[in-house]
Amino acid sequence: MLIDYHVHAMAHGEYEYSWSWIEEYLRRAQAQNIAQIGFSDHDWFEDRIEIELIKGVAARPEFCSLMVRVGIEVDYKPEREAEISGMLAQKPYDFAIGSVHHLGEWMFDHPDQKDGFLQRDIDEIYQEYYSLVDRMVKSNLFDVVGHLDLIKIWGFKPTTRQENYFLKPLLHGMRMSGMVVEINTRGLRKPVKEMYPSEVLLRDLFAHNIPITFGSDAHHPEELGSGLSEALQTAWKVGYRKASGFTRRQSIFYPLSEARKGIS
Ligand SMILES: [Zn+2]
Ligand SMILES: [Zn+2]
Repeated sequence: MLIDYHVHAMAHGEYEYSWSWIEEYLRRAQAQNIAQIGFSDHDWFEDRIEIELIKGVAARPEFCSLMVRVGIEVDYKPEREAEISGMLAQKPYDFAIGSVHHLGEWMFDHPDQKDGFLQRDIDEIYQEYYSLVDRMVKSNLFDVVGHLDLIKIWGFKPTTRQENYFLKPLLHGMRMSGMVVEINTRGLRKPVKEMYPSEVLLRDLFAHNIPITFGSDAHHPEELGSGLSEALQTAWKVGYRKASGFTRRQSIFYPLSEARKGIS
C-alpha cells in the first residue's frame, strides 16, 4: 500500500473543494492501492482549504480503509517567515511542506519563465536556490522538504555535480532539523524526467539517516499515485525500509515492506 503526501485538489486554482471532487480523489486513491493520502494545496489558496470538508468525505464508510490527512504546501521566502508561522497556526494541519519556487521574483519552475535559465550562470542559479532551501530547512517552520532538487526541472544542469557541490553542505542541516524529505514524482513528468530528489542524492540522504515520504504532486485525480511504485522501488534499492506519515504535525513511521507487497 502506497502513501501519497503531496496532492493538490485545487491545482493552480482551476478547481474548488466540493464533496464530489474530494470523493474523486479518494476513489482514485483506493483504485491506485494508496493507503494514505495527504492533501497539500498551495498556500496561495490557504483561505479556501477546507479541512472539515475533506475529513467529512473521508469519514464515509466506503473510505474507511483509507487514511486521509490534510496539509499545505507553502511557498518559502525568507521575508515571509513570520507570516507563514502565523498562517500554519490558524488551521489544524497534519503536515506542512516547505517549497522553494521563487528566486526573488523569478518563478523558475513556471513554463513561461524558464528562459530565466538562459540569462544567468547556471551554477549561480543553483547556488542561490540551495541557499534558500538551506534557510527554509533552518527556519524550523515545516515538516517536509518539498521537491528538494526542483531547480533541475527544465534540465539545465550545473557544471559541477549538484549533489557534491551544492547539496552536501545541506545534508547535516537537514538531519539536524528532523525534517522529512519527500520523493516527489512530478519530475518524471517534466523535461528533466527524474524524480526529486535524484537517485544519487537519495543515496546521500539515506547515508545521513534522513527520513523520507512520498508524493505524486498530483494536480488532478488522474495524476494521483503517478510514479509512486517506481519511487518506492528506488527507495528500497537505496536501502530505505520505512517512510513517514503525519498526523497533526507529528511524523509516524510506516514499513515499506507492506507497500512493496501491494505492487509486486
Ligand atoms: Zn511545489
Ligand atoms: Zn505541489
